[in-house]
Amino acid sequence: MPILVMKFGGTSVATLDRISRAAKRVGREVANGYDVIVIVSAMSGKTNELVGWVDETSPFYDAREYDAVVSSGEQVTAGLMALTLQEMDIPARSWQGWQVPLKTTSAHSAARIEEIPTDNINAKFGEGMKVAVVAGFQGVSPEGRITTLGRGGSDTTAVAFAAAFGADRCDIFTDVDGVYTTDPRICDKARKLEKIAFEEMLELASLGAKVLQTRSVELAMRFGVKLRVLSSFEDNNENAGTLVCAEEDIMESNVVAGVAYSRDEAKMTLISVADRPGIAAAIFVPLSEAGVNVDMIVQNISEEGRTDMTFSCPVDQVARAQKAMQQAKDEGEINFHDLVADTDVAKVSVVGIGMRSHAGVAAKMFDQLSREGINIKVITTSEIKISVLIDRKYLELAVQALHDAFELEKAA
Ligand code: ASP
Ligand code: MG
Repeated sequence: MPILVMKFGGTSVATLDRISRAAKRVGREVANGYDVIVIVSAMSGKTNELVGWVDETSPFYDAREYDAVVSSGEQVTAGLMALTLQEMDIPARSWQGWQVPLKTTSAHSAARIEEIPTDNINAKFGEGMKVAVVAGFQGVSPEGRITTLGRGGSDTTAVAFAAAFGADRCDIFTDVDGVYTTDPRICDKARKLEKIAFEEMLELASLGAKVLQTRSVELAMRFGVKLRVLSSFEDNNENAGTLVCAEEDIMESNVVAGVAYSRDEAKMTLISVADRPGIAAAIFVPLSEAGVNVDMIVQNISEEGRTDMTFSCPVDQVARAQKAMQQAKDEGEINFHDLVADTDVAKVSVVGIGMRSHAGVAAKMFDQLSREGINIKVITTSEIKISVLIDRKYLELAVQALHDAFELEKAA
């Protein structure tokens, strides 16, 4: 029997009624001749509640117990989904991560998947079971302890199962009907994409388009898993949602696939640091050790052996960055005249694999921003992405203007 993986996110299993709607969808695929592996999230809000309980009980908690607590939301939905399917006369049973067993590293709360043996579940399919309901987000460490894969990890569970079982497709059911050219909440011309390349989705996901956990996209790309994002609130056919797939499977696409943004950024500049070998390491090693996620980095041309070093990071990490830099200065590792933090900036990026073969994307982006009178503070580029830092108050305007400039409301 061909296998299908269907993953239901928190909002799609938020109530018994929604679990029942999801189960009906699963039932249809069983009727279509599939053996189905269903991956479930916890009911929406549940994981946050569990994390809150852990924090309240033990501020510097034992990560193994954190995982024992926060993984429990998925246990509940897996059992309820299996019961619902049984009530529909569909042979189904639930599996906890450790029962599969989904083997992970021992990095509690951020474990990585090492192996998913298929024999247990395949044996049950062989005996006539039609649906294996698997608790997402969780696994088991070599020490036999329950692990979790990081927030949003059920997406990664789903893709990993699709890869391990050679599933025809991995459908991710969520509360939006696909991946959009940009955030529809700030740009009403945003258009749902029929298809998007793995590389583009990776950039969009890491820029905060929260539809899929970034790691799940990485995995899907590595193993060539056909990944589809679709709404569990609409009745949809074969072609609903957005297919995340290999570049070769997309015939025509716009040069730019989407405009992404990250609202809460900060720009920090170390004024007048000595321009000598090792200075970048002396700055960025302490920042990384302090847990600061540095994104853009610009080093200015130096004058008389001194230079300015600018970097961006999430705005809530500014205090941490300041502390790390002051400490490095006090210890004599670096010397700077001043550290200036601009906490009112946002990042806007255009993403598209078409940039590899088309010139002029950056020019068009900068031109459009200048027409709107938006000043660019920092620019970085990669093969398929151009990002700028601008004043946060212009974020919406910039996103809308770029969406217009690249005519993203029109399909290729
Ligand atoms: N329930 C977990 C979370 O909210 C995992 C998931 O739903 O993907 O992070
Ligand atoms: Mg999610």
